[in-house]
Amino acid sequence: PAAIEAVDLVKDYGTGDSEVHALRGVNIAFEQGRFTAIMGPSGSGKSTLMHTMSGLDKATSGHVLFQGHDLTGMGDKELTLLRRHGIGFIFQSFNLLPMFSARQNILMPLTLAGDKPDRAWFDLLVGTLGITDRLEHRPNELSGGQQQRVAIARALIGKPALVFADEPTGALDSVASAEVLGFLRNSVKELGQTVVMVTHDPMAASYADRAIVFSDGRIAADVDNPTAERMS
Ligand code: ADP
Ligand code: ADP
Repeated sequence: PAAIEAVDLVKDYGTGDSEVHALRGVNIAFEQGRFTAIMGPSGSGKSTLMHTMSGLDKATSGHVLFQGHDLTGMGDKELTLLRRHGIGFIFQSFNLLPMFSARQNILMPLTLAGDKPDRAWFDLLVGTLGITDRLEHRPNELSGGQQQRVAIARALIGKPALVFADEPTGALDSVASAEVLGFLRNSVKELGQTVVMVTHDPMAASYADRAIVFSDGRIAADVDNPTAERMS
């Protein structure tokens, strides 16, 4: 079954001469328990697709179906609740809160939702991501790679059914990328999670079960990756 689905999704920015057609009627379903990579040139609409599908941005027209709900008809409050419990987002720019420690940033989704952390899962996450000894530091005391790992831990701490990741390995070297991708892939398989990841890196895409190529607001290619099973 589809974990989330876009139907005729259109997103335009601006008006008149400055109008940009970021999504030109996209139809796509992401199946539950699968890891999908989205590739394509800068400006082709990849981030816009993830932002509109996760309810962070409003679509111009079309529908997004998630857990039996149409996100496009929802108000901000409803969207926030749905995202809080069902969707994790790893931002390209990390979006960490500067006043708070790494530990507090990671736990923030649970703090906001009033949920108790799963201690073992927290330890496993920060251990695998290699940030156990950075937890009391604030974001400005961390390297870009460390901030990225904190952002990944924050997106996964609540074990969301669906994770959107915008270039999650963009600030990591190749060894750290391989570790993070292997972890993400295992997490998908063990928790039955659905992960949608934008990446420019073919090595990162090789961890995914499926690769989609975007071009000018449309899906230009959509292929299964038969060798992904070896990447766990
Ligand atoms: P990608 O993620 O593939 O690089 P984006 O989804 O960021 O592509 O952008 C798609 C198009 O929409 C680009 O032309 C970009 O400049 C434009 N765009 C994205 N966000 C905005 C925005 N907030 N306002 C105006 N134009 C935007
Ligand atoms: P990407 O690598 O995904 O294309 P960008 O650097 O283009 O990322 O965009 C980063 C942020 O800036 C996004 O939140 C996007 O919506 C916004 N953005 C992108 N293009 C424009 C634009 N032309 N005008 C305003 N905001 C934009």
